[in-house]
Amino acid sequence: MSGKYCGRGLAICSLAFSISGNPSPAQDVKPTAPTVIGALPEAQQTKLQTDAAEAFGLYSCRLASISRLNIQDELSVRLEFDGIIHHLSLQRNSLRDASFTLRVDDGVLHLVEPPPSRTYTGWLREDPIASVAAAITDDGQLHAMILLDNDTWYIEPVGRKIGGAAIDWHVVYRKGDVKPTNRSCGVDGALSLAERIAKGGNDTPNHTILAGNGLTEIAFDADVEYYQLNGNSVPATVVDIEMIANLVSNIYRGQVDICFTITGIIVRTVEPDPYSTTNSTPLLCQFTQHWNSTNPVGRDVAHLMTGKEIDGSIIGVAWRADGVICAGNFSFSGFCPGVPDGRADYGLSQSRFSSSLANRINLTAHELGHNWGA
Ligand SMILES: [Zn+2]
Repeated sequence: MSGKYCGRGLAICSLAFSISGNPSPAQDVKPTAPTVIGALPEAQQTKLQTDAAEAFGLYSCRLASISRLNIQDELSVRLEFDGIIHHLSLQRNSLRDASFTLRVDDGVLHLVEPPPSRTYTGWLREDPIASVAAAITDDGQLHAMILLDNDTWYIEPVGRKIGGAAIDWHVVYRKGDVKPTNRSCGVDGALSLAERIAKGGNDTPNHTILAGNGLTEIAFDADVEYYQLNGNSVPATVVDIEMIANLVSNIYRGQVDICFTITGIIVRTVEPDPYSTTNSTPLLCQFTQHWNSTNPVGRDVAHLMTGKEIDGSIIGVAWRADGVICAGNFSFSGFCPGVPDGRADYGLSQSRFSSSLANRINLTAHELGHNWGA
């Protein structure tokens, strides 16, 4: 693949826009998930709200009840918080490329049948300009990000984080509700995770990818610890990764006209996997060497989702160089002793460093931004 924009994907990218962009209200569908608000006594709600804010690292949050959702091609979710009713109009929108493969490494790498795709894109009926990206986990719970003109909302279930919370309760918060973390990226050290996207925004003069549309083929690798954090479940690991990819793709599509298609996911289920260190740069070196030597999945960029607790305050690292995507024969001699020259379109995220979706999305968006030189 040559060129920075990985050209063959452009048509697919445009198609994705026609599905999810500029929707008209006529495309709306009838509500399938009536919302029940106030199912808890007020005092109990207040306590749950406080507990949820604590669990998700938020200054404050709202709560909403969203009934269990079944994956259908179209969904409308009625959501009430702050006394206002909102409707999310969602269309199922798999990020999987036509060539998508799921492989499990249980000592031997082998193909397995992928579970159904559970990712969605859509809009807010009350504000069709707002774009929504979402995923529905296999327990029917909604994880969503809503990009407004000048704000971002996040919705995620509270049940797994707080004992005793009903399965339908979800936390709703804005980006300004998220407390800063003291964790940082291994590349730049001091970047705030409150930053919504990699530094490759419009204000970055050397960021050449901004010139046009592009569809980026991405592949993911999940180490054993990441699989374990997803309940030792391959389908849960897949939906978790695809959720992150879908929400990150929504940010990139909105800000830099790049969207992602997933060409493959590898889930490592048994130790030893190829990744043994918790030191960020050596871990990136191991990932780089393994993928460059085995080339397991065609892609423009590959990302390791690690469940390891990375040393120090670092939660992610990626190769940063102009033109690292789709091309290049880079020397790693200064960083990775013994690793042969090769592709450098790699990065990694300790995605579960935070319990909040906002932080998790920002991290991987940020690390991928480095691969474009941001
Ligand atoms: Zn960084």
